[in-house]
Amino acid sequence: MTDKEINDLKDKLFYKPKFAYDEYDEKALCEMEEFSKGYIKFIDKCRIEREAVKYSIAEAEKHGYKEYKFGDKFEKGGRYYYNNRDKAVAFIRVGKNPIAEGVRIVASHIDSPRIDLKQHPLYENSGFAYFKTHYYGGIKKYQWTTIPLSLHGTIVRADGSVQDIAIGLDPEDPVFYITDLLIHLAKDQMNKPLRSGIEGEQLNILLGSRPLPGASKDVGDRIKLGIMKLINDKYGITEADFMSSELTMVPSYPARELGFDRSMIAAYGHDDRVCAYPSYKALFDSTDDANTSMIVLADKEEIGSDGVTGMQSSAYMDIIDELAKTFRASPAKVRANSMCLSADVNAGFDPGFPEVAERSNTCFLNQGVVMTKFTGSGGKSGTSDASGEFVGKIRKIFDDANVIWQTGELGKVDQGGGGTVAMYIANNNIDTIDVGVPVLSMHSPYEVIAKADLYETYKAFRAFIDWAK
Ligand code: MN
Ligand code: MN
Repeated sequence: MTDKEINDLKDKLFYKPKFAYDEYDEKALCEMEEFSKGYIKFIDKCRIEREAVKYSIAEAEKHGYKEYKFGDKFEKGGRYYYNNRDKAVAFIRVGKNPIAEGVRIVASHIDSPRIDLKQHPLYENSGFAYFKTHYYGGIKKYQWTTIPLSLHGTIVRADGSVQDIAIGLDPEDPVFYITDLLIHLAKDQMNKPLRSGIEGEQLNILLGSRPLPGASKDVGDRIKLGIMKLINDKYGITEADFMSSELTMVPSYPARELGFDRSMIAAYGHDDRVCAYPSYKALFDSTDDANTSMIVLADKEEIGSDGVTGMQSSAYMDIIDELAKTFRASPAKVRANSMCLSADVNAGFDPGFPEVAERSNTCFLNQGVVMTKFTGSGGKSGTSDASGEFVGKIRKIFDDANVIWQTGELGKVDQGGGGTVAMYIANNNIDTIDVGVPVLSMHSPYEVIAKADLYETYKAFRAFIDWAK
């Protein structure tokens, strides 16, 4: 064989990953930038699941989607949203094809790691007022100190009245804060393992330092009283109302383009709103209405997908069963013929930490949407591990639509691991595979993604929704 023949053979037989910027023409680059702009707006505004629900429903209504409640009838060609208690949402478009052919599901989550307030949060100590907290999801606690935080969530008063609040994103707003120790006094702290440098009960939010005007030093807790009075003036709540409120602290950094070349986006909560946004955009932008599709933006993934708003809730399967009943199909058949992309992020290769990855099977930024056959940990425990046949089907869908995609595994064997909503859908007899965006610094207060991967993820979801079998 000549050298050329050998090289040709290599080209023919070896797998070559695609690098987005080698594939893009001017048009693709423009579309990528345009799509990123919309995403930056979304991720900047939607810091918690409730905000993402509101935002995406407003978008849906512009596209003719109407509220669906259990007991309502679905109609062919109908567009619906099911608002699950303001914390999760499903968008349903009923296609022209028989429902027995199944539903195309894209399921992501819109909750992210953060710092929740306890039920009795407010206290005073040594001239400061604080909130006590209990963190939500997997965080490195030390990362959440000395950064600006905003307060988000919902107040539920004794009379049952409800009010959403968000303080800290507007540049005119104050922000909140968790202190850390001066390095010069950190002799003991610096000798602790990273995991215990800051403990859970040290994640106390600094709120104020000024007594209630007019309260003399003989008045106990006069700083706490000053804060409570301000909150009462603004929201009409008393301390007892915290018990029935759902409040959380999230980073208040704005989402920004990252790098001289602006090729990346830094933001809080890419995991997993970076998959949620392209999933509902793909449905709303889709003009082919042959297939019945459902986009789920679920809650509670970061703490195990339990509960009425998590992916393990029966709400989402109930929707599929109701669709089946409406069009007189067998619910079991509709489920069996459905398929799902579990839209969640994966850890992109970080040259700063090469030792946790296995290079042949990790995903890279700018190499497109990542397909993750299995998640879990330690000998594939805790994963639905998609079948080779299903991987083959999705592979063909992506290739036919010129989607730039790669595969990835979350870290090298026995390094750690993690899960997604995939298995909770697969357990309902629906073929499911993880597909999403590679992320750097995942679960930190400010995560990084590449614009090209976001755009390819959108293309992947569109291809999946529109694919004619
Ligand atoms: Mn996730
Ligand atoms: Mn996560």
